[in-house]
Amino acid sequence: MTGRVRAVLALGSNLGDSHGTLSLAVADLVDSSRVRLREVSPVVRSSPVGGPADQPEYLNMVIEVETDLEPYEFLAHCQAVENEHHRTRDVRWGPRTIDIDIITFGDYTSDDERLTIPHPRAAERAFVLQPWAWMDSTARLDGRLVTELVGETDLAGIRPYEGSYTQWVP
Ligand code: ATP
Ligand code: MG
Ligand code: MG
Repeated sequence: MTGRVRAVLALGSNLGDSHGTLSLAVADLVDSSRVRLREVSPVVRSSPVGGPADQPEYLNMVIEVETDLEPYEFLAHCQAVENEHHRTRDVRWGPRTIDIDIITFGDYTSDDERLTIPHPRAAERAFVLQPWAWMDSTARLDGRLVTELVGETDLAGIRPYEGSYTQWVP
């Protein structure tokens, strides 16, 4: 790969076999000569934030990959993996088999509605920040340490997930 950047992705699922889907989605994301897995966070269980009141709890995780894809190519790659796992968009923030959000993409920034980088809601989301802080204690978002940002969020809805992710340690 030439022109590599490191990208941080947040994955979430609350429909179907969420743990299985997260696992397959990580495999699909890195099943490309253009994308390499670098870091994997623990999985957390989280209470839904926004969207319908009665939806099931989520499993969330964060990964870091290295890629030489351009930002919009990388977005298309992530959306193709979402589609493979039957992601639908009926209700905003409604239940989903898989959500794959690009949180950061190297130093790239964009305020396009189709691709906003850094992800505009990541800094206030405990379900993104907590697994990210556990994965990388030096990570920064908008110049702030993720380990500090997580302390400013409401962690009440975040619980450990007992499943094993050792198969994804790169
Ligand atoms: P949220 O963005 O609040 O987490 P969501 O993940 O449920 O909500 P989606 O339905 O997955 O939202 O995506 C809606 C649109 O957001 C997509 O069509 C995509 O083009 C756009 N989008 C903008 N910025 C990003 C990003 N950083 N990562 C992924 N999608 C993005
Ligand atoms: Mg999302
Ligand atoms: Mg999304």
